[in-house]
Amino acid sequence: MPEIDISPASLHRKLRTKFIGQNILYYPVTSSTMDMAKQVIRDGAEEGTIVIADRQTAGRGRLGRKWLSPPDSSILLSIILYPKLDELLRLNMAACLAVAQSIEKATGLEPTIKWPNDVLIKGKKVSGILIESDFQGGSVSYAIVGIALNVNLDPSSIPEISETATSLKEVLGQEVSRLEILRCLLGEFEELYRALRRGEPIDREWRRRLETLGKEVTVRCGEDVREGYAESVDEDGNLLLRCPDGSLVTIAAGDVTLKA
Ligand code: ATP
Repeated sequence: MPEIDISPASLHRKLRTKFIGQNILYYPVTSSTMDMAKQVIRDGAEEGTIVIADRQTAGRGRLGRKWLSPPDSSILLSIILYPKLDELLRLNMAACLAVAQSIEKATGLEPTIKWPNDVLIKGKKVSGILIESDFQGGSVSYAIVGIALNVNLDPSSIPEISETATSLKEVLGQEVSRLEILRCLLGEFEELYRALRRGEPIDREWRRRLETLGKEVTVRCGEDVREGYAESVDEDGNLLLRCPDGSLVTIAAGDVTLKA
């Protein structure tokens, strides 16, 4: 039976990181780990502090969307960072890659990434990434990397996502230790974040896992809808979209829907 306990004591025993997760705030229930992270930033939380929860009552995704997770089924994690602006631009890439690589290391599965922020297994969403940040006088005052990962969730129990979501348990056919995945994830994330800070590129691996490239896509950014060919991504992870008139448009973030 895999461990179900993700308390700070059990995580501390397992972690091999230098600063990510050295400080752990754990809540059996919270509104959202993102909200709790904002609170502890106000109290001066140090870089690498993580907030984890077994249950969220108001988990959120991008653009006000809801993140749904039955109690104890998922990794619900926020990581507090104080990056420079150029590092902030690449944090989403680092987070998506950390999720994909940790799943692969821990389970042997080969996740792909749907630009810009979803990790998929067999075409279904297993994890969502949300970055929230704030600025003061032109520099970044903080960034929170939110990661939700369906570990032992049963998608068929949630009608809103039963067709589009998956979990590690669903794909592997057995319960998976959240503690082990979390340990791997924090280790992978620390390595990628350190690479970012050293100015090393991480876009090559990101590109390799992107399932969006080489497809005709519709990109929605608010009211703005563009259609085109997802040609490539640049080193900050922006999508390079070849439009029907031949122009190449750089898209920083948006809502990419693959054309039927
Ligand atoms: P999309 O998944 O359509 O690309 P998005 O990337 O903008 O949307 P996120 O911010 O990552 O969305 O997450 C919110 C969306 O994810 C919700 O609107 C819902 O469709 C889906 N979702 C919510 N909970 C889960 C979950 N546990 N597993 C998979 N998908 C979920």
